[in-house]
Amino acid sequence: MMFVSHLLFGMLAGILGCSFLRCDNVVVFASVSAFASMIPDLDHLNSKISRKLQPFAVILSLFRHRGFVHSVFPPLALYFLLLSFDFYIAAAVFIGYLSHLLLDSLTVKGVRLLYPVVPFRISGFIKTNSFSEKILAVMLLVLLIMYLADIFANLFP
Ligand SMILES: [Zn+2]
Repeated sequence: MMFVSHLLFGMLAGILGCSFLRCDNVVVFASVSAFASMIPDLDHLNSKISRKLQPFAVILSLFRHRGFVHSVFPPLALYFLLLSFDFYIAAAVFIGYLSHLLLDSLTVKGVRLLYPVVPFRISGFIKTNSFSEKILAVMLLVLLIMYLADIFANLFP
C-alpha cells in the first residue's frame, strides 16, 4: 500500500481507537497512531518513511520486506514496552501499527501476521498504487474528513 493510504487509515484507526478507549486527547492519540502506521515499511529501504528515518531503516531492512516487521510481534512488543510509560501512547502505537498490517493484508502480496512462527499469508485483491488502491484512499479520506468535521463540531458547539 502507498504511504498516503497508511497515513489516512492510521489516523482513522487512531480516531476510532481513541473514542473506543475514551482517551482524553484525540489529536495526540490519532497523531501517534498515524506515525505508528508508517513504522512497518521501515523494512523497505525505498519507502517514504525509510528515506526520512534512514538509520532505523538500515537496521530494519536487514529483515525481509513484509516478513517479521510486518507481523503482529513487533506491535505487541512495542505495546508492552510503552505500557509502563503511558497506556494511551502504547495503545495508539499498537492500533496504528495494526492498521498498517490490516491494510497490507488487503493487497495481492499480503502479509504473514505470525511470521516466522506460522508462515501462513493473508492476502487480498488490491495491487499497490493501482486504481483500486486510489479508490480506497479516497474513501478513507472522505471518512476521515467526516470524523474530523464531527470532532471540530464537538470542540466548538
Ligand atoms: Zn507495509
